[in-house]
Amino acid sequence: MKLTDIKQMDKNYFTNTFGERTPIAFEYGKGMYLYDLENNAYLDFLGGIAVTALGHSHPTLVNAITNQAQKYIHCSSLYYIKEQAMLAKKICDFSCADKVFFGNSGAEANEGAIKLARLYQRKKGKPDKYEIITLEKSFHGRTLATIAATGQDKYQKQFNPLTPKFKSVPINDFDAIKNSVDENTCAIMLEPIQGESGVNPVSKEYLSNIRKLCDEKDIVLIFDEVQCGMWRTGKLFAYEHFEIEPDIFTLAKALGGGFPIGALCAKDKFAQAFSPGDHGSTFGGNPLACSAGLAVFKVFEDENLVKNSEKSGKYMIEKLTELKKKYSVIKEIRGSGCMIGIEFSKDIAIDIKNELFKQKILVGSVKKSIIRLLPPLIVKKENIDELCKALNKTIGDMQWKKIPEKQF
Ligand code: PLP
Repeated sequence: MKLTDIKQMDKNYFTNTFGERTPIAFEYGKGMYLYDLENNAYLDFLGGIAVTALGHSHPTLVNAITNQAQKYIHCSSLYYIKEQAMLAKKICDFSCADKVFFGNSGAEANEGAIKLARLYQRKKGKPDKYEIITLEKSFHGRTLATIAATGQDKYQKQFNPLTPKFKSVPINDFDAIKNSVDENTCAIMLEPIQGESGVNPVSKEYLSNIRKLCDEKDIVLIFDEVQCGMWRTGKLFAYEHFEIEPDIFTLAKALGGGFPIGALCAKDKFAQAFSPGDHGSTFGGNPLACSAGLAVFKVFEDENLVKNSEKSGKYMIEKLTELKKKYSVIKEIRGSGCMIGIEFSKDIAIDIKNELFKQKILVGSVKKSIIRLLPPLIVKKENIDELCKALNKTIGDMQWKKIPEKQF
């Protein structure tokens, strides 16, 4: 089938939720590359938006999924599932969590976390403690509760009335959070490094103050690590950078290496609020998804990919900083590990993304002025050199001097 046929069929039958997509369809992937229908290789610095941490079609992951599919794919969590128990143990062994619940996506994991936080307060005899404070510019998913949690008007305005009792406050402003806490505050939910709004980290001092506030007022601290978790930032979980622990955290994206799975992970004190019947999922924690998750952990352990994520991230920042010195249009490079944002002082990010695409390199753009890099965590020095060479050429060739400065 040709790309034009796929485009037409998509236009006819798929909801117009993604608009005019990048004009390409892929046939297969291997390592850092995706191959289009004509077998052209594209260097992938987007990783399915922080999903394909092991690169494309890693043999350990492919074998795990194939073997499991040959045994059985689904049975229902009405029965004990070996792979589910093993993956839950794996996450608990490596994190501050004592219990895990599996869903199928990041939004579902966050929904579960919100439900658990409210139940925790209710079961402590405080049913009026239901309000959740989140941060502006956050992103927590597309379900009705998670868009209410998401501190961005553009995701919310079409869906009023929103799920009630969420409010968002500016990031890295401790007074704002402290002043919005009252006797109804149930939880504070945040991404340690905001992803969808262009890689915005929270500060260590800010998080440590929030941790203290939550302890003092018995407020549940929830970290959404759907994007920044799973070695993305050079540590297994982003909270490890901040020397504090959340009460509940959520995972998805890279957890299955591309196979859909989400997880809500909680300390015992909070997890105990769930009683039989309070939460569930038909597909969540099925043997296939959990086998994929186990394979992801195996590859990371066997190949020490966390070192690579950290090392490659440092190298990427170093090379991008050289470009920043050369081009005044680069305003800021931020992020850690393989989660990096390049902010420009002009609205040129979409043009840059499109130019890189012509040079067969895939990156993401956020709004009009930020490029986001989320490569597979197997990314090598030569891949980074190729990206930076292409960026150098692209920025150098562009007529950006004539474009007006952005007002920040
Ligand atoms: N939370 C964060 C931080 C995300 O980045 C995303 C997706 O981009 C989500 C939640 C929603 O995840 P999903 O699209 O799997 O529902």
